Amino acid sequence: MQEHIENDPHYQGLAVNEGVERLPIVNPYRKKIHRHHYTVDEYVKGILAGDKVILSQAVTLVESLLPEHQLIADQIIEKCLPYAGKSERWGITGVPGAGKSTSIEALGMSLIRQGKKLAVLAIDPSSERSKGSILGDKTRMEELSVQENAFIRPSPSAGSLGGVARKTRESIVLCEAAGYDTIFVETVGVGQSEVAVHSMVDFFLLIQIAGAGDELQGIKRGIMEMSDGIAINKADGDNLNRAKLAAANYRNALMLFPMPEAGVRPEVMTYSAKMGTGVDELIAMVQNRIALCKENGVFEARRHRQDSYWMHETIEEALRNHFYHNEHIMQLMESKQMQVMNNEMTAFRAAQDLLDLYFHKI
Ligand code: GDP
Repeated sequence: MQEHIENDPHYQGLAVNEGVERLPIVNPYRKKIHRHHYTVDEYVKGILAGDKVILSQAVTLVESLLPEHQLIADQIIEKCLPYAGKSERWGITGVPGAGKSTSIEALGMSLIRQGKKLAVLAIDPSSERSKGSILGDKTRMEELSVQENAFIRPSPSAGSLGGVARKTRESIVLCEAAGYDTIFVETVGVGQSEVAVHSMVDFFLLIQIAGAGDELQGIKRGIMEMSDGIAINKADGDNLNRAKLAAANYRNALMLFPMPEAGVRPEVMTYSAKMGTGVDELIAMVQNRIALCKENGVFEARRHRQDSYWMHETIEEALRNHFYHNEHIMQLMESKQMQVMNNEMTAFRAAQDLLDLYFHKI
């Protein structure tokens, strides 16, 4: 008994639809975007002149996955490198809701009043899924985003964390060449992205909020250990005392960690990004710490270590990609995986077979 007529062999083929040719999308209201394609030297010249539009387009090239874009981006970065490196790079992390964007707005506006030029970049590997959750919506940092001396850029969305982070790191070079003397790299404090941010900044600031006395449990020890300073936000109104108590708890907890290489323990401060209280003190704390590290050589040592980290990281990523995109490996990968899952082969044997194939040993 056939339930559907299309299952009857007699009618087979009826379901096949030839379809119609797709009409071109014509929207008379849509303005045609004329994107200029500059030469490498034009890009570099524009960046060095502090042209935000050109900087923005160059960052888009850095973020692009197209090989031809990467080629140009690499040349731009190389030519900008001699002009880069002079900024103070801050990493800013905290769980969603901790008040990162409110804080960046408050800190940023204050820095701009100091006469600084600020670039805000972000690393959010989840932004592809959530369509740019971080720095994505236009309502964030309303005041800061319209400042002449501020450049705000959402997270590059495509690719692995390593890839996203590398692009952000390369964008730092371009921003520095464009004259930005303070760079914020924001990340959501929930995963591995803090490690990536930590490896590209001079000061890693952890934004926390007072919980119900159990705030120390919720936070990963590693993130606390990485931080150069902890700032308890929302120290206002009824929350003021709880914020102070949380700060005291953090100070005690930090005493249990080994002394950081800078020779001073991370400071714990309270502030209110919304009310603006404690913001200037927080900035002074970060700036003083960076100045101290410049004096005692820790700043330079850290940057050297980061350069070396990124060199190795880039090599590893390139090797990994080359391996996994190898045609023969791709063909064999699935069957090896099945064999491992069916207990027909150990994971190590399967890996060795694939590696031998890759290195033409079999
Ligand atoms: P993010 O997710 O970490 O970027 O956090 P947001 O900056 O979006 O802030 C989350 C919420 O906390 C918003 O409703 C803010 O208005 C609020 N908020 C941020 N800073 C403060 C503060 O200093 N005091 C108070 N009371 N609320 C704040």
